Amino acid sequence: MLDKLNAVKGMNDILPPDSARWEWLEEKVRTLMGRYAYRNIRTPIVEPTPLFVRGLGEVTDIVEKEMYSFEDKLNGEALTLRPENTAGVVRAVVEHSMLYEGGKRLYYMGPMFRHERPQRGRYRQFHQIGAEALGFPGSEVDAELILLADALWQDLGIRGVRLELNSLGQPEERKSHRTALIAYLEANRESLDEEAKRRLYTNPLRILDSKNPVMQVMLEQAPKLMDFLGEASLKHFNGVKAILDASGVSYRINPRLVRGMDYYNLTVFEFITESLGSQGTICGGGRYDYLIEQIGGKAAPAVGWALGVERVLELIKEQGGEIALPVPDAYAVIPEASALPTALRVLQALRASGVSVQMHAGATAEGMGSMKSQFKKADASGAHFALVFGADELSAGCVALKPLRGDKTDTAQAQTLLRLDDVAAWAGKLQA
Ligand code: ATP
Ligand code: MG
Repeated sequence: MLDKLNAVKGMNDILPPDSARWEWLEEKVRTLMGRYAYRNIRTPIVEPTPLFVRGLGEVTDIVEKEMYSFEDKLNGEALTLRPENTAGVVRAVVEHSMLYEGGKRLYYMGPMFRHERPQRGRYRQFHQIGAEALGFPGSEVDAELILLADALWQDLGIRGVRLELNSLGQPEERKSHRTALIAYLEANRESLDEEAKRRLYTNPLRILDSKNPVMQVMLEQAPKLMDFLGEASLKHFNGVKAILDASGVSYRINPRLVRGMDYYNLTVFEFITESLGSQGTICGGGRYDYLIEQIGGKAAPAVGWALGVERVLELIKEQGGEIALPVPDAYAVIPEASALPTALRVLQALRASGVSVQMHAGATAEGMGSMKSQFKKADASGAHFALVFGADELSAGCVALKPLRGDKTDTAQAQTLLRLDDVAAWAGKLQA
């Protein structure tokens, strides 16, 4: 026998019935995005490597160590499996001049790839749902996106996620803060870990984001970006806060929240839960007014967020959120193979009128399988009814209808005959 082949480490199969939870979530998201008039965008999973290097920043976790990059065997082009999708969306928006007629509100769902150490809530292929609003400078759009995420938690029945908010200001403000921060970190060099030492002059802001417990006390005292913001930046931040306050969305200002990508400015935010251990950030985002230009487009403001689908589904499970698994309306019991042509003709019509039917697929040289085993499968399918395509019933132009759920002694639950001409009417009643 050949060696067994398994999925790549950190990459998961999503199997039924669990996949129904994914479809359920995706449907909720589609509906909600429609209500906010965000439209779906689908970009390739593979992008040119320079898109991420330029877009995300060279000294970021993703670009430094997490990208699946390879060379196109045919033309030698440097390619990367997308580690996130904001850069790809921006590339598409620029490539297709989508901002020509004004701002665009977009959303996406799909797999992302990062070479991380696999653990609960951290995978190498994982899935993100993201919303991006491009071409709008005002803080009302930052707020709209936060409200959209908040509404999603409500729709999904998720409780107790905390919103953390910060402002990264503008590049000039960051520059003065950076000088002060470097001076402070230099003065505290003995408490810096290796990574922090390495980033001291390349990306000191990211040091603030470190989760290393040894550095926490020292980092608490570090100069805060918020104290370096000018009037316009503060006004933008206050604009976001005023809308959130008016809508009753609570938040906590976290002056150390900086986010993993270099492209952010002004508003940044994260939604965090305490229920998932150290992988508690379920959604993160912010404004990225300089990314479009960075990627070669005409300068335009933008803001967005992305959520981790695996973490959100895990949180729903953790909080006991039960999702009704799909079951067929009916199971087609087919005693004799000779009934198959008629049965499938009727099933085709039933399905066309919206009824979901699982067909007994039991044909072998010996026949279709015993009635007992067919009814056992019908029961296991979770179907509400069995449709029995017996020879006698069919010769009378009928099919037997047997309820499978509920009180079996109830006479109303007894088997009835359904005329083949009436199946559409029966289907209609089921849908009602
Ligand atoms: P973290 O700090 O947990 O590494 P991040 O800042 O790298 O997160 P983002 O790039 O902002 O994460 O991605 C947005 C969301 O995608 C995260 O909040 C998280 O829910 C999810 N996510 C990120 N990386 C992974 C991963 N490797 N596996 C599963 N989900 C992930
Ligand atoms: Mg990360």
